[in-house]
Amino acid sequence: MKCDPNLYRAAPPSLAVKPRLIRHLFLPPLIIVLMIGLGYAGFWTSEHFGIRSLSENGQRQLELHARTVESELSKYTYLPSLLELETSVPQLLADPTPEHRQTVNAYLEGLNRRSRSRAIYVMDTTGRVMATSNWRDVDSYLGEDLSFRAYFQKAVRGEPGRFYGIGSTSGEPGYYLAHGLEEHGKIIGVAVVKVRLEALEERWQRARLEAFVSDENGIIILSSDPARRLKSVIPLSDETKEKLARSLQYYWFPLNELQPLARETLAEGVEKLTFPANSELSADDDSISYLAQTRPLNDTPWNFTLLTPLQDLRREAINQGILVAVAFALVAFLLIAWNERRKVIATRLAAREALQEANNQLERRITERTGDLRASNERLKSQIRERRQAEETLRRAQDELVQAGKLAAIGQMSTSIAHELNQPLAAMRTLSGNTIRFLERGQLDVASTNLKTINDLIDRMGRITASLRSFARRGDDKGQASLGKAVDAALQLLGARVDSMALHLHRQFSDVQVQIDQTRLEQILVNLIGNALDAMQAQPLPQLWLEGEAFNGKYRLRVRDNGHGVDAEARKHLFEPFFTTKPGEQGLGLGLTLSASLAAATGGHLGVEHPASGGTTFVLSLPLVSPDSAEPI
Ligand code: ADP
Repeated sequence: MKCDPNLYRAAPPSLAVKPRLIRHLFLPPLIIVLMIGLGYAGFWTSEHFGIRSLSENGQRQLELHARTVESELSKYTYLPSLLELETSVPQLLADPTPEHRQTVNAYLEGLNRRSRSRAIYVMDTTGRVMATSNWRDVDSYLGEDLSFRAYFQKAVRGEPGRFYGIGSTSGEPGYYLAHGLEEHGKIIGVAVVKVRLEALEERWQRARLEAFVSDENGIIILSSDPARRLKSVIPLSDETKEKLARSLQYYWFPLNELQPLARETLAEGVEKLTFPANSELSADDDSISYLAQTRPLNDTPWNFTLLTPLQDLRREAINQGILVAVAFALVAFLLIAWNERRKVIATRLAAREALQEANNQLERRITERTGDLRASNERLKSQIRERRQAEETLRRAQDELVQAGKLAAIGQMSTSIAHELNQPLAAMRTLSGNTIRFLERGQLDVASTNLKTINDLIDRMGRITASLRSFARRGDDKGQASLGKAVDAALQLLGARVDSMALHLHRQFSDVQVQIDQTRLEQILVNLIGNALDAMQAQPLPQLWLEGEAFNGKYRLRVRDNGHGVDAEARKHLFEPFFTTKPGEQGLGLGLTLSASLAAATGGHLGVEHPASGGTTFVLSLPLVSPDSAEPI
């Protein structure tokens, strides 16, 4: 079984390798780039939505804590105005005697204790402190000129003075609320309450809240992180810095800016601020980002800012980004694997289809060839039939020829047969005439001898006619023959001619049984011996050798004469039908042809040799009936 190699031929390498090479070169970097891109997109989206959610949550927190600050501040708003109701205060301002001062001092001390404020004091319109709750302290404000304070300046004009500053005497920060004390519609002095707001900071710290309050100058006055305190949240010009320094609002503290590393405005009052790391909060990082939400505080020019750290959100966003990148890598890997598997399956299917196609082709070819074979088989069968018919015809023709040959031989022999029969007939006529006469004379013994001789002659004549009948009879080529008997019969048939030429016969063969009809063997031998006798006509010492030998399951009989032999030209045509060198009616040219075909019909052979010593040798080979039984006669 041979398959068409074309069916399995792979695609040309240049076409098959190139796309794969390109894929291998470009796919991994592409996947990496996409991983990074999608990872970043995941990170960005997560951060964006996280900030939005934080900002919503922060807004509530902002509101809550801003309200707390507002309520803390508003708690003291009414306190300075209360002093208007206390009669001793206008008395002091109108008449600043030590007694009046002492009375007001004691009153303020008590009020301060009850209100838990830091200090309460009263100033005249020039800004000098007339009485104060801390009159007992060493760093008492008593007698101090605080006219430079902005809260005084505002209050003396009749406006509410709100001020955060650091005390010039104590160096202690505080919230100052000032109120212009009126009498009959005229400002007679200013009452001030100083409040400490550290409690708010402590509360924020306890709640782990990052927040600060910046004042009208943008300076952080309250902060959960002390490091941020007294830093400016907006850029300050040198002029402003100088003005603020001169006002001693912030004592002598340097007003540095709270410089963020990055600042990004996300919405109105919402910023993303990144500060350099400075505290234990960001030990493992060199910067820290916050979501800064700012809201103005009511009744003050201050702003409350809530800082929500974005570290956790950032970490979460990084994780999300990594997750997206990993998920993408996984999906890409699965897609590649799926694609490879799809290609393998497609290749297998293609190979299977190719195989199927090859099988189909093979089956088609087998069918075609089987058809061809069947046709040639049919042709062979018809040829065999024709051959058989031809053989049959040939065999019939051979039989006819044999018959014709026999008849011809009979014709040829008729003269000698007639001579052969006439001789005893003539002898019998003479003998019978003599016998009659001897009987008439009464010579019975002589008559008896004659009758005996006549009887012998009749026997001889019977044998002759019997030989002729058996010769002429059609026989089949099955059966077996005795070589000795056949030779005897042939010699008897040719007896007259043998006797007439004083033949010297050499018999050197075995009486074997050969596979041929007896009559046919006799016929062959009559032909061969007859031809030898013809060839030796002119030979003064005619000799005939009949020599036999067993050879390869056959018996080979050589019929050799010392006749005139066969000339070179005739040798080529010896076995051709009707080839004869004999003159007139003597030869038909059928003897050798028939003999050879009779021998061949039994599986034997008839050949010729031309001995150098002269004469001719015909070699007759016939299959032995029992190959081991060949014994010399
Ligand atoms: P026919 O005897 O009628 O001629 P054959 O076929 O028997 O036909 O012989 C053919 C020829 O072969 C003979 O005419 C003769 O020339 C030659 N031939 C046959 N036998 C011998 C022989 N023993 N010696 C010489 N010539 C022979």
